[in-house]
Amino acid sequence: MYDYIVVGAGFCGSVIARKIAEELGKKVLVLEKRKHIAGNMYDEFDEYGILVQRYGPHTFVTNQKELAEFVKKYGEWRDYDVTARVEIDGNLMPIPFNFRSIELFYGKEKSAVLIDKLKKAFPGQARIPVYMLTDNTDPAIQEYGKLLFEKDYIPYTSKQWGIPPEKIGASVIARVQIALSYDEKYMQQTYQMMPEDGFTKIFHNILNHKNINVQTGTDALDMITADGAEHRVLYNGHEIPVIYTGPIDELFGLKYGRLPYRSLDIVFQTKDMDYFQSVAFIAYPQANGYTRSCEYKYLTGQKVNGKTTLSIEYPLQYDPNALKGNIPYYPVINDENRKKYQQYKNLADKFQNLYVCGRLGDYKYYNMDAAIERALEVFNQIKA
Ligand code: FAD
Ligand code: UDP
Repeated sequence: MYDYIVVGAGFCGSVIARKIAEELGKKVLVLEKRKHIAGNMYDEFDEYGILVQRYGPHTFVTNQKELAEFVKKYGEWRDYDVTARVEIDGNLMPIPFNFRSIELFYGKEKSAVLIDKLKKAFPGQARIPVYMLTDNTDPAIQEYGKLLFEKDYIPYTSKQWGIPPEKIGASVIARVQIALSYDEKYMQQTYQMMPEDGFTKIFHNILNHKNINVQTGTDALDMITADGAEHRVLYNGHEIPVIYTGPIDELFGLKYGRLPYRSLDIVFQTKDMDYFQSVAFIAYPQANGYTRSCEYKYLTGQKVNGKTTLSIEYPLQYDPNALKGNIPYYPVINDENRKKYQQYKNLADKFQNLYVCGRLGDYKYYNMDAAIERALEVFNQIKA
């Protein structure tokens, strides 16, 4: 018999399972709906021998040394800086937008004036969200902000989320900021790394413990019931602590209605060449239907001659019953959805033996480091 049930083998579930098994010496059963561990970080070799991430490209970034040290316990990692470009009006430009982007948009003379104004308007600030440009009182800075909105942020965000940008939380657009320099680094975090042997191997090592049993291909909701009258969660009729990292609305039978999630159709293409694009990522705000391409050999550092595999992301509405778009990738962050989530959260809080967490459980736009941090926090609650 098990002491704890963990639902989901992504970072949140796997880290909690490991901590319970190792530090509390308790037996854990991990139930995972997909046929494999590693959640959205799952990677595998495709038919051409190229390591690809089936649920979209992931790179590990964090400012927290402890989190970088934590993942290093479970495998070899190498330092890796993400480089990206954005295609605008048929030209590839740096992203983050930086002073070189300004030169490409406006030419030498006008750009020198604008760069000077930006330096004076935002002294000592390395990066700012795009709306700080449009909110500025200087007409030239405003004009540049409007240009970026029109050429990139509005079309990209509308396509990514399926709703106009003003209906999506400002924090989402602020994830990709404007650099007030010639800096081309896509991410700013102190630690930026990729696992030497892929993410799935890291998960295998996290879950490899004598107190952990993993059952893949198993929908936990076939075995777990949330007993509303008693406020207990039951696993096959038994009361046992459950850590749930799936969508919180599905745990409660959509009682307050479905929480919206955004999904992706990720299309893979293999080309007969060493490399297809010049960098790992290209964003396509103006393209029809797709937002981003990733060429995996840049991420993994893998050497394969004459073949290269890319993924292209087509955003879709999440629909659990559809053939495409049946994976809830992103919570759709705005005030309305936060309120609905809060109803589920208030209900979950009444259940003594239930811990809900993760990107889907907390309905938060966690990066991997934040998911691990949250897992460690929940483990401390369990321990206490
Ligand atoms: P998940 O990885 O989603 O794990 C939840 C698990 O629960 C899943 O495996 C799911 O199958 C399982 N589950 C759900 N319901 C049930 C059920 N009923 N029964 C059993 N199992 C169930 N983060 C970064 O830090 N860097 C990046 O570069 C990055 N790139 C990303 C790119 C894309 C396209 C996407 C979508 C996300 C990206 N992220 C990135 C975010 C990253 O994927 C999340 O931070 C991470 O997946 C969160 O882990 P989690 O455990 O909360 O969720
Ligand atoms: N974004 C944009 N243009 C870009 C890249 C990003 O407008 O070229 C906005 C868009 O709203 C997107 C958000 O920034 O949803 C976050 O982008 P990020 O690359 O962080 O998305 P993720 O990697 O999480 O899919």
